[in-house]
This record gives sequence, structure tokens and C-alpha cells, in this order.
Amino acid sequence: MSLIPDDVIEQVREAADIVGIIGEHVELKRTGSDFRAPCPFHGGTHRNFAVIPRKGMYYCFVCHAGGDVFTFFMKKLGMDYPTAVREVARRVGITIPERGPTGPDPREPLYSAVAAAADWFARQLLENPEAQVARDYVTTRHLDLETVQPLGLGYAPKSKALLDAMKGLGVRDEVLLEAGLLARREDGTLAPRFRGRLLFPIHDLRARVVGFGGRILGEGEPKYLNSPDTPIFHKGKLLYNLHVAKHAMRKAERAILVEGYFDVLRVSLAGIEEVVAPLGTGLTAEQAQLVKRHAPHVILLYDSDEPGLRATFRAGDELLREGLRVSVATLPAGEDPDTLVQKKGAAGLEEILKDAVDVLERKIQILDRKGFFGTLPGRRRALDRLLPTIRAATDPITRELYISRVAEAAGVRKDVLEREVTISGKGKGERGPGSTIPPSPFPIPQLPASAEKALLLLLLEGEPWKSRVTEAVDPEELEFPPYRAVFESVADDAVLALDDTSARAYEQLKAEGLGARDPNEMYELAVNWMEARRLERQLERLDDQLPFESPERQASLIAEKRRVFDELRKRYPRYKIAKRRRGAPGT
Ligand SMILES: [Zn+2]
Repeated sequence: MSLIPDDVIEQVREAADIVGIIGEHVELKRTGSDFRAPCPFHGGTHRNFAVIPRKGMYYCFVCHAGGDVFTFFMKKLGMDYPTAVREVARRVGITIPERGPTGPDPREPLYSAVAAAADWFARQLLENPEAQVARDYVTTRHLDLETVQPLGLGYAPKSKALLDAMKGLGVRDEVLLEAGLLARREDGTLAPRFRGRLLFPIHDLRARVVGFGGRILGEGEPKYLNSPDTPIFHKGKLLYNLHVAKHAMRKAERAILVEGYFDVLRVSLAGIEEVVAPLGTGLTAEQAQLVKRHAPHVILLYDSDEPGLRATFRAGDELLREGLRVSVATLPAGEDPDTLVQKKGAAGLEEILKDAVDVLERKIQILDRKGFFGTLPGRRRALDRLLPTIRAATDPITRELYISRVAEAAGVRKDVLEREVTISGKGKGERGPGSTIPPSPFPIPQLPASAEKALLLLLLEGEPWKSRVTEAVDPEELEFPPYRAVFESVADDAVLALDDTSARAYEQLKAEGLGARDPNEMYELAVNWMEARRLERQLERLDDQLPFESPERQASLIAEKRRVFDELRKRYPRYKIAKRRRGAPGT
């Protein structure tokens, strides 16, 4: 899609001498590792304009103009992005193939609109009286404005001032709409998407602002709101701070993955710059690929509570699928990276990163601590939870090590485990992202369409159902992807992070509600159904396995089958009948 390949742009940026280039326009004086000059943009006389060669960026502390060597040319000389890249490339002696017949990038107006809005939001944060609440909030997070300014943080006023400001700059409403900065209300009028929020600019790999994450100030929902997907902003394909972190990632040969924007800021400001975060959602395959382009090893640094651990292991599986090495760092209970660095500094964080363990090992630790390996059924359940991680590991050596380790931990023969990994892995792989709710093995008329849905309706009822459901059911057990996404986001209080399909599912469920249904009965049925489905799968697996076993091993598998079957009958007394009906509808 883009006309100059990303890696060429990257090469140009890295080769560019930003101090030399900007030094042609202003007189730079060294101060420590940075350079200062009077600002060429607002025309001041004091040295408020900084060039930071280590980061390849510039920033003015008065007018808040900021960016990299390319944006400098764009703002100073009025070039568009590709022209600026070509100009810098010419100076550093990199040849860029001539522009093809496609002409200029049609998305150029969107980039310009978002950049203009980003500058305006940043100025509001510092100057708008209404933004006092945002400035205070930044202070309560123990950050000072001086520090966050160069990072481009902004404030979106509650008023419609954005519309006038952008009009003044000649940015058309349609462009703002397409860029996701405006929304059309039901009555047809236009309103800013972000109102009364602290804004974190989100950059693409070329360090262009393409969207925002906005945190609400004071009461309100949702807590975090992102730009919608636009031609330049794709939530699942961007990582917060990657445009800065990628250099450090290459040097450190590792990436640190955290959950929140503030975590990124804190860790990065503490001098550990190889830190990125997904944009309020679970990590996607595309994001995992992005990480892989810059570092071979990822350390997951999420909260240590239940939702944090779930998110950790889901991200871990995604990263393993891309062949990355994955470790998990464990924060003390109740801490997040932000609070930890505030208390113990970068050194305290480094300690924790140093103690990071492999993601599978961490899973085993947790299962062990919960006593899973103490009993036979417990070991089976533990195995069920470890299998997805083994299967996710695409790197053959990692997979081999994982199989050996799990065989040892669960007391299973290695060859049996190997077979299980391949057998159940096949079925899993066939189920694509477009899969729908699997047909219920037994008809349960009292339930709203499916057990998965019933669990979600209960979850959305709030406490005590929310806690009961999240304790009884692991999100991985939900097979319908949007339901799984809703389950996780409600459990984690991160509903805004949902993609479009899941958000629709969420809204429908919200609208439906429990109605006249009895929550106790619904809970019992749904949880039993989920358990029954798990047991049924286990039976299928045992059936798959049986023919390949020695006679004495077969005997023990048959005993195991008996046990699973009895458990299943307990959970669902009509199991046998339902099965027979399903198998032969005519009888
Ligand atoms: Zn300035």
C-alpha cells in the first residue's frame, strides 16, 4: 500500500544526522546529550527547542512542535511525507526508486489531519483552563508535565472547540470524520469523538500519529476510548510506543510487553525503552508479528491477579505461535509496572525482569501451587491447560522442550503426550476465526441459545454472579470468539477494548439481560454443560488414543473412560439418551 517500503524509510531515518539537518536551520548548542536552540516554528528567542539525537526527535517546550527528521521538513518546508523522506534520503545517499504510476498516497490528508489535531490537543493540555483536571490527573500519577510533553500527551476539551480549530487550519469535516476524530450524531450534527479525556497519541512504525487512546477524567464510561479503525489506524496491528521502542528492542534483543499506556510511559521514562503495549485489547497475531520483527524474546509484564494472568497466557500463546521466546515477569501482588517503578525505580524493575521465567514454566508453577498435580483428575486438568501452550509453540526446539517438561510435571509418558499434542492440535487448527457457536451436544431448552451465552448474561448481571462465573469458567473454554472476547473484557473491566464484532455481541447481550430467568438455575445448567463438554472431549480423546495402545495400557484407558463417563453422567444424567438421539434422529 505504501509507496516507499517501511524498511527503506527506517534505513533513511537511522542514517539521517538529525542534529546536522536541523542545525542548518537553527543554531544548535549542546546541553548534555541534547541540543538546544531558539524555536524555528514559533520564532522565540530562548533556547526552548530541543533536538534529542538519541531518540531521533525534536521538541519545543513552548509551542510543542515535535517530531522526527521527516516531520521537521514537513512542518518547516511544507513538504508532504514522501517528499520529506526523499529529501532526507538524498542527503544521506540512499536511493529510493522513483514514484510509480500510483501517484501520491490518498491517505495523506488523514495523516495531516491527525497530526494537526495531535498538536492542538497537546496545546490544550498545557494552556486550556478546562484542562486543569487533566494536569492534576497527570500529577496524581506522579508525572510532571515537562516530562510528558515531549511524548505528545494531550487533552480533548468537552466543548466542540476542536471543530473550529480544525476549520481554522483548513481541515475539512469529512476528513476528520474519516480520521475518527469526529462522530456523526443521530440528529446529523457532528461532535468530537474524544471529550473530557487525556489523550495518548498512537504512532505507526513511521512515527506518524495515526490515532489516540483517551482516558476519561473523572466519572464516566468507558474508562479508555480508542480511535475507531480508520484507513490509517488499525487497533490490532499497532503497538503503543513501538516507533520509539523498536530501536531499543533491537539493541536489547528483547521486548517488554505491558498492559497500559501509563505502564509504558513509566517504564520508558525510567530508561528501559524497549517497552510496548497492545491498545487495550488482547495481543493479536499481527501484533505478535510486529514484535518479532524487532526482537527475538518477549518478557510479559502484566498484573499478577487472575485477569492479568489470563491475559499473560493468551498473549504468551500468541507470541509462541510466531516462534518467539516468551518469559513472564511476576510483579508483587497489587503492583503494576507503573507503581513498581515509582516505588523501586528502574533497578527494582530490572530485578523483576531478571527473575522472569519461561511462560510454560510459569503456568506449571501456578498449577502446581493450586495443587493440580496432586491427584489424577487434577493432573488431567492441568494437562488440558498446558496443551494449548505446547501446541502454540511453533519453534520445534521449544516444542520439544515443552513436551518433555510437561510429561515430567504431569507424570505422563512423553510419547503419549506427543500424540495428544498432534491429535487435539489438528482439530483446533481447523477451527478458524470465523467459527460459530458449536451445536450444543444436548438440548437444554431453559438456556438462552447456548451455555456460553448464559454465562455471559450472568457475568453482565454484576456481582455476585460475575465472581462466581469467572471462578468457575476459564475464558479459554468459550469457543465462540466474540463471546470469549466479551467474557475476558468484562472479567477484566476492559469492555472498550472490544473489536467491532465483539462489541456488537456485548451490546446485544447487555440489551437482552436476564429477563425473567432464574439466575441460580441458569448458572447450574450452564456450568454443568461446560464441564460436560470438557468431559465429552476427554472421552473422544481417549477413544482416539485407545487403538494405538498396548493391551495393558488399553485396560487402564478403559478404566479412565469409565471414570470420565461416570463423571459426565453425574453432570448430565440424560447424557446417554441425548447422545443416542443426536446420533440417530429417526429412532
Ligand atoms: Zn516553538
